[in-house]
This record gives sequence, structure tokens and C-alpha cells, in this order.
Amino acid sequence: MIIQSEYKRLPLRQSFHILRFSILFAGAFFVYGCHMVKQAQLSTSGKSDIPASVAVSTDTATKGIDWQQRKDYVFSKGTLVFTNRFATARLNDVTQQNDSTYTLEILPENARINPSPWYAFKVWSAVKRNIYLTLQYAGYKHRYDPKFSSDYKTWRPVVSPVTVSADEHQASFKLELATDTIAIAGQELISSADTYKWVDTIGRLPFVKREVAGKSLKGNIIPVLSTKGSNGKKIIAVLSRLHPPEVTGYMAMQEFIRTTLGSTALAKQFRGKYELIIFPMLNPDGVDEGNWRHSAGGVDLNRDWTGFKQPETKAVRDFMLKTTEKQDAKVYFAIDFHSTFYDVFYINELKDPTGSNSPGFTVHWLDAIKLAIKDFKPNIKPSGNGGDVSKSWFSRVMGAEAITYEVGDNTSREQLKLKGRVAAEEMMKLLLK
Ligand SMILES: [Zn+2]
Repeated sequence: MIIQSEYKRLPLRQSFHILRFSILFAGAFFVYGCHMVKQAQLSTSGKSDIPASVAVSTDTATKGIDWQQRKDYVFSKGTLVFTNRFATARLNDVTQQNDSTYTLEILPENARINPSPWYAFKVWSAVKRNIYLTLQYAGYKHRYDPKFSSDYKTWRPVVSPVTVSADEHQASFKLELATDTIAIAGQELISSADTYKWVDTIGRLPFVKREVAGKSLKGNIIPVLSTKGSNGKKIIAVLSRLHPPEVTGYMAMQEFIRTTLGSTALAKQFRGKYELIIFPMLNPDGVDEGNWRHSAGGVDLNRDWTGFKQPETKAVRDFMLKTTEKQDAKVYFAIDFHSTFYDVFYINELKDPTGSNSPGFTVHWLDAIKLAIKDFKPNIKPSGNGGDVSKSWFSRVMGAEAITYEVGDNTSREQLKLKGRVAAEEMMKLLLK
């Protein structure tokens, strides 16, 4: 999600957090300020990444985050247990209000932060019973309606209606518990380990090379997959999961990859001409910690594409610079999958439209998607390529047509798969013309 204006609507309680962080980091900012601009202007290729018009707007130096206490919350003489002891969980406290009513506190990893209150927990009961839960977001607004699963693969909306308070700071619902453990979460749970398994499967394809682009702040692997079969001169880059809760974007990415790595004549012909480079899990620490937005470094990794202060973004930059230099290659298209309230394509608006490696591709591609999906009107938001998000860097430094593809939080899973598949098909057709 990319909406920065939401920051302005922070309630009082977050304002205190901001003040605290501001005081803590103001000193650090002064120390790093000068270095920041100098460092940002140097890419590893020795060329300047950033024209004078580009403002390094976001401080992405590592900040503290409030780690969750991983624990079981035990009630009713041990017959009812809530837990956050698993990757992707987010549950900061549970308070019992009466026999059957519980308040669950859900907190962000730090502030300032976008309003994306992610939560995930498991609950187990020794007996059949009904309980009433209220999710409380420390003054942030409810965003993800609760879903449940007992096998962590199939997810359904909770059966009871979800009541959101007038100020939207709380959401309440009933759970009918059997003697089983169920997970409750804002979206489907996909941890870094789940992605590493997916990477293992894809990596076994004979035409796919699997590498490690780098490591996250906590030492988790940033995997990268690339296709063999072309002469390696024309590259397509695919990014995902810079922001932890943005699961619908990740699912669309998986379908996009399934299509481009498929056995159709189109996909085979495409891979003969273009090399795909895929970074499916760029924020493993944040995903596993159940963060709302940030990395373990406490920063938004999609605001670090000028400063490159975080290992996760550096890993992509260095891998891309090294690969394009080694193979004397150009990046023709880069697509970074995200999620927000509704489907949006953020594109680069270039002063000189001929100034990319595949001029006009994005506009033609979006037209083709529109024609291919019935009743689909792509919501396109152009902006210059001077920003600190991934699409700006891929445009500015790699010369690529590049977009941030935001998939709606509530886009039906069938529809988002269709969109991922069609996006891949139309890309392949157009780039083979
Ligand atoms: Zn995002």
C-alpha cells in the first residue's frame, strides 16, 4: 500500500509515539543526514542514481521496533488458550471481560505507520463453547475482516457478523469453538517458510536457477529465481512482499509466475527471449513477526529505494546491477506486487516517454488487460519516477518500464488469480511482438 496521506490522520495516541521516536531519532538523523544524500547519489555502478530533482524524503535508517511477547494466553482453568507462538502471528494482549468475552489488543511494530492493522492468532478450546472477541487497534481503524481456518490452507470469513465500532477502532465477532485449534487472521497466512517451500518447488524446474540475493536484517534468506533459456540480454523483474500483510498481491504474483513459467507455447517462446528474475519474499522478518508494514529494521522497505539503508533493498539493487552488468542486459519491465483497499496500478510518468527500454509498454499492456478481462477498468495512477519506491528506481536507474501493482484486499481470490494470469499473458504477447 502506498497511501502516505493516511499518516496525517493519526490519532492522539500515535502522536505520542511519533514524538517519542522523533526525539530518539532526531539526533541520529542529523548525524546521518549528510551521509544519506552522498550515499544515495552513488550506485554500485558508479553512476548517479538520483537526479537533482529527486528528494530523499524518507528517513529509512534502522529504527527500534516493539517485538511481540510470544506467549499463550490461558483462561477458564486451562480450557481456553489463545496463542501467538507461530510465524506471521500478531497478538499483543488478551483480557477477559466476563465468562465468554475477551478483548484482544493488536499493536503496530512502531510508529509512524500506515493504517494496516494486521492480526493473526490461534485459539483452542477443550470444550464446545461460544466466545465473543473484540479486536482493539490502539486507535487505528479496522481494515481486515477476520477469516478462520483449521488447516491453515482453506480460509473462510468468520460465520458471525463483524460489528465495527463507530470510530472503527474496534471490531467484534462471535466464534463457535469446537474442540479443535483454529487460526483467526486478517488474511490468509503465508509465512517466509511457506514462500521458501514454494521457491523450492519452482527451483526444481529444469529451466529455473535458484540463488540467494542476500539476507534480511535478522539473517533470513532473500531468495531469487531466474529463468534460463534466453541469451540473458532482456530481463523482466518481479518483486513481492515488501509489505507483510499484503497477501493478495503475493497471490497475484504467484499466478503471474505460474503463467510465465508454464508449459504453453507462449510461455516457452517468451522464456526463449526474456529472462525472468523473481524476488518473491523481500521482507521475511516483517512477515514472520506479523508486522503491519515495516521490516525488522522498523522501516518501510518501499521507501528505501533512494537511500538503500536496509539489507533487503540493497540485496535487490546489488543483484540487479551485478546481473545486468555481467550479462550486458537491460530490464524491459519491473512489476512490484502489493495490496491496498482496491486494485490500483501506479505507473511512471516520464517526461520523455521514449526514455525507457520498452517505450510505451505499460500503457499498451494495461489496455490489453482491460480488453482481456470483462468489465475490468484498470485504475491507473501515474507519477514521476523521482520517488523512493521500487518502481521509481527501476525506471530511473534500470531504464525499465516499471509499476507498483496494488491488488485489492478484498478482491475475490478467483478474480485476483485471473488478473495475475492475464497480466502475465498480455505481457508476454506484447513483449514478443
Ligand atoms: Zn504495499
